[in-house]
Amino acid sequence: MKFSTPRLTSILMSSAIIACFWLSVAKAADTERLKKDVIPTFQTINLKIDARETEYGGNVNMALTVKNAANSFIVHAEDITLIDIILSGKDGEISVSPELGEYGRTTLTCAKELTPGEYTLGISFTASFNTQAVGLYRSESGGEHYLFTQFEESDARKAFPCFDEPAFKYPFQLTLTIPEEHIAISNTPVEIESASEGWKTITFKKTEPLPSYLLAIAAGPLETVDVPDMPIPTRIVCAKGKNYLTGETAKITPPLMTALIKYFERPYPYEKLDLIAVPEFWAGGMENAGAITFRETLLLLDPEAITVSQKLSLVSVMSHELAHMWFGDLVTMEWWDDLWLNESFASWMGDKIAHQEFPTLGIAVSEVESGLGAMVGDARPTALAIRPPQSKTADLLSGFGFIYSKGQAILLMIERWLGEETFRKGINQYLQENEWKNATAAQLWSALSTVSAKDVEGTLGNFITKPGVPLVTVEVIDNKKLRLTQKRFMNFGVTAPEEILWQIPVALKYNDGKETREFSLVMSQPEEIITLESGGELQWLFPNVSAAGYYRWQVPDDMLANLAENSQKYLNAQERIGLLRNLAALLDAGEISGGIYLKTLNAFASDPEPVVIDNLISGLGKVKEAFAPDDLKKEFAAYVNRMLKPALDRFGLEAKSGESEEAALLRPSLISWLADEGENEEVQIYLTTLAKNYLSEPTSIDPALAGLCVRTYAKDGDNKLFEDFKNRFETAQVPAVRSRFLYALGSFEDPEIIKSALDYALHAKLSAQEVLTIPFSISSPSEEKEMMIFNWVMENYGIIAKRIPEANLPGMARFGGGCSHEKLQKAREFFTHESRILKETNIILARVSDQVSDCVNLREREGESVAAFLKQFAASN
Ligand SMILES: [Zn+2]
Repeated sequence: MKFSTPRLTSILMSSAIIACFWLSVAKAADTERLKKDVIPTFQTINLKIDARETEYGGNVNMALTVKNAANSFIVHAEDITLIDIILSGKDGEISVSPELGEYGRTTLTCAKELTPGEYTLGISFTASFNTQAVGLYRSESGGEHYLFTQFEESDARKAFPCFDEPAFKYPFQLTLTIPEEHIAISNTPVEIESASEGWKTITFKKTEPLPSYLLAIAAGPLETVDVPDMPIPTRIVCAKGKNYLTGETAKITPPLMTALIKYFERPYPYEKLDLIAVPEFWAGGMENAGAITFRETLLLLDPEAITVSQKLSLVSVMSHELAHMWFGDLVTMEWWDDLWLNESFASWMGDKIAHQEFPTLGIAVSEVESGLGAMVGDARPTALAIRPPQSKTADLLSGFGFIYSKGQAILLMIERWLGEETFRKGINQYLQENEWKNATAAQLWSALSTVSAKDVEGTLGNFITKPGVPLVTVEVIDNKKLRLTQKRFMNFGVTAPEEILWQIPVALKYNDGKETREFSLVMSQPEEIITLESGGELQWLFPNVSAAGYYRWQVPDDMLANLAENSQKYLNAQERIGLLRNLAALLDAGEISGGIYLKTLNAFASDPEPVVIDNLISGLGKVKEAFAPDDLKKEFAAYVNRMLKPALDRFGLEAKSGESEEAALLRPSLISWLADEGENEEVQIYLTTLAKNYLSEPTSIDPALAGLCVRTYAKDGDNKLFEDFKNRFETAQVPAVRSRFLYALGSFEDPEIIKSALDYALHAKLSAQEVLTIPFSISSPSEEKEMMIFNWVMENYGIIAKRIPEANLPGMARFGGGCSHEKLQKAREFFTHESRILKETNIILARVSDQVSDCVNLREREGESVAAFLKQFAASN
């Protein structure tokens, strides 16, 4: 599964990014594993489903092997009414009585002991279609109803009875009876189809062995479009009337597929592929075998108005999901404790292939950025290991978003260390040994160790089984000799819960006065002395080549200043980003002052690379959150102009012909920052003119700026404009236009209109994943506005809780985040109230509390130094 997060951190307004984080808080579900006494080996599923109805019925038949004698066993069936259960063995029928437990764990107690042998279990049932976009759910789009599924990680049990754990990997055969005018899609091609009395019955071919979470169904008045140049029959599936939006997906998919087949040296594992655009969907994509589901906004793009940012999201989610067809589907994790590997591998592999096929989208940089992002959370005391040795499922799944990025960074580091080709050999050996089966992470490490003759498991060890990120401190003893020390990196005033010793693949880059050289080692001691090869005087040193190592670093102050001052001369773009992010971390750790941090950012204002400017904007975002309250607005605006105006002069307000895709990606956030935080009048007027042009003729402007200009225009908008935007939102055909106007509805600043917008969020016909878009998109939230949104959440919690799945509710505690202990305290009282507390609430609250403490501490510690800098800066400019 992949959540849709843009690479450029500031592409979307900060609120939208919070929305992504919020979405990325997955649930913790059933923590107990089923015993292996009774094992399913095959299952048929027959369902009669009509998307226009609210209920359905069906039956399943399972072939079971009893390995060890048992009096009872458990199957999963949640929110389902069981009608009839028939268990048969070689001696005939055995009566069973069901008892429903937590998470749909249904214990079937048998009238007599089951002896080892073969049995069949038939269950007929009825159920209601889910309406919160999980399980087998019903969704409306353009006045028509559709059915889709989302099963990861434990919601297949809400659609039909099954053994709903990844280790039960066996073939299924699905038969669907649907209205004759509808279309149905599942994991395999159709085997037989027959029609009678307005219904048609479709039996799909038997699947390869699959875990239940990878099954999929889509049904309703769907449309399909063939994708040419694919090694297997491939279609894009979409809601009625939308097939004219599939062109870009058809274009970008074949090269990604070809590249993956080449990397893995084995064919695509399944007989066909459907790429399904789902109007109502929580994630970005879900890797159902042969029937991948995507959020409609990602897959269906207006051919007349495709932006680079849309293409980037599409390519990155598509490559991630396709990579899962081998890693996750063909070979499946044994249990959810290896979910991190499943996901981080798909992210790493997806980005690698996407960068190879679409090198101008800057995906190589996003790989590095995701690791640098993970380090922020990893510096906090509540950080969890991505694979704790003894873990409960609750812990494993609650850090869902984090494990993608930290895991990906670790894989990137290991690949650099072993070499690309060796790493690839290890991966392919692991796939070869485990195809169609389950496997554990240990089996992958063992394959990598064998092909590389290096201790991969030992090196990965504490990066995976312990929380935290190491800090590598470099001291210069003399011209060639360096002392390297390692310890856990923590933010200022926080004591590490335990000291950890890592084996860190460190790569240094330095200049000896004659040439630039590299030096690598695996650092396994708390302190090591190394001797560099050198033909002259050490000029400078950068401790993390290509920012590919998962560690923070520190060098002497004068060396740091020199690196920042000459970054364009010494370092590549990834390294300059690494340097910028590392500076922010040193600020959090109290190693540099706020004033020095702001002064150092200055050196990056002239950077020619858009991706570096984007990270400079992230740095400014940090300053804004912690240091720029309302009384420093003017001074901060002057500083923002000084930092970003040079970049705007270089890249321009308007797209230039032949410009890089990275420049096109940067423009919206650059303009947005100058208009909002920089209060730059010229840019504000430009956006207003653009908005007027767009509203009268949508094709007349650069589509990349459409969202930004309507949001900016909304700020001073009146009721009439609000009604106009509502109408444009409700009648939009193109998913991107719909989401553009939904965000814009949250951008009005008139307090009365904000109230109407929040009311609209609660009562309008929105899909489940849209319910919180308006509150998240309330623009440039001052602390007063943040409090208002938070109060609204508390007042309407009951209504919201009915619209979104329970699994996503604990994530709402993130509304307590920001820079205020007072708000945090209210959030704590509210969300831990006995009527609302859920299993994961405390984990989320602990993290939110860490974030708030960091922000408040930073403000208290450095506020004066930053205010002094900004005032002096404004006075002298
Ligand atoms: Zn995934």
